[in-house]
Amino acid sequence: MVGKVTKKINASTQITVEAEGDDLTDVLFQLNPIINAPQVCGKCGSDDITIKVKSVQEGKYQYLSYDCNSCHATKQWGEYKVPKGCFFLKRWEEPYNGQPSTEEDQENPGRKTNGK
Ligand SMILES: [Zn+2]
Repeated sequence: MVGKVTKKINASTQITVEAEGDDLTDVLFQLNPIINAPQVCGKCGSDDITIKVKSVQEGKYQYLSYDCNSCHATKQWGEYKVPKGCFFLKRWEEPYNGQPSTEEDQENPGRKTNGK
């Protein structure tokens, strides 16, 4: 089956993504980071959000993220090992300022006990 989603990223960018998969789960896994594209920055509330791409070591590692153009907070895409090529969205993180963040523990109190 085929799924298609059109999402407004910011004032000048709209993205339409089509995914083909064996079943609905397959399709939704692929479309997830677009369906759940943030409409506002999780740190400052700005709607000036863009998609950033980064390639290091000659493309060995490629990173995708939603970035806030106002405060430069970033919401990274994390890649699932399975299914390959599918992504989940991480939390908003403030631009690196040398201060360790404790937000993770507050937001996900049970996270560290899940055996990972
Ligand atoms: Zn922001």
